[in-house]
Amino acid sequence: MLHLILFGPPGAGKGTQSKILISRYNLVHLSTGDMLRIHLKEQTTLGVEAARYINQGLLVPDEVVIDMIKEHIESNPHAHGFIYDGFPRTIEQAAKLDELLAARGQQIGLMIALDLPDSLIRERMCKRAEIEGRADDAKDEVIATRIATYHQKTKPLLDYYSTQNKCVQVGGAQTIDEVSQCTCHIIDRLIQHG
Ligand code: AMP
Repeated sequence: MLHLILFGPPGAGKGTQSKILISRYNLVHLSTGDMLRIHLKEQTTLGVEAARYINQGLLVPDEVVIDMIKEHIESNPHAHGFIYDGFPRTIEQAAKLDELLAARGQQIGLMIALDLPDSLIRERMCKRAEIEGRADDAKDEVIATRIATYHQKTKPLLDYYSTQNKCVQVGGAQTIDEVSQCTCHIIDRLIQHG
């Protein structure tokens, strides 16, 4: 069972690349951002609570996203594998995911890290705010908080997975096709050689 993490700052193209990869490799897409946006739209209790964090550009509490991921893994027992998009975002989340998978006799195969300079992150988030109308992409101060949160809380995961020899970096500033060619090549190699 393939467990792949698509990692990177906001605007790196994780969502776009995930869509390409799930159809090519028949994987289930687990995006905590998408799951939370459904809760926000439906105004569930979780959604109302999470909105306080999301609208400020902060991370929602670890246990909220861990529970969502656990539920989705368990409700897809026949999946060929999973692609994690926007999760894990903290060391705590990564450690819990490792635990969760170990209990099932499984593990993360690889983290593909899309790299993008801060100036391009800002540019892409502004563009996305116009296209998708995402409130958390629209305000300068929220964008700044999201970038700072990425550097402080999420980027340390590069070391977490590098130490396990599970991290491969791909330049996220390339075109969509170039990035997907690189990622597919990496995944093909992983599938062939383990
Ligand atoms: P995304 O669409 O992945 O950029 O996520 C949008 C927002 O949802 C983030 O800025 C966070 O507030 C929240 N969020 C998504 N995934 C996570 C996560 N793994 N941990 C904590 N907060 C998350």
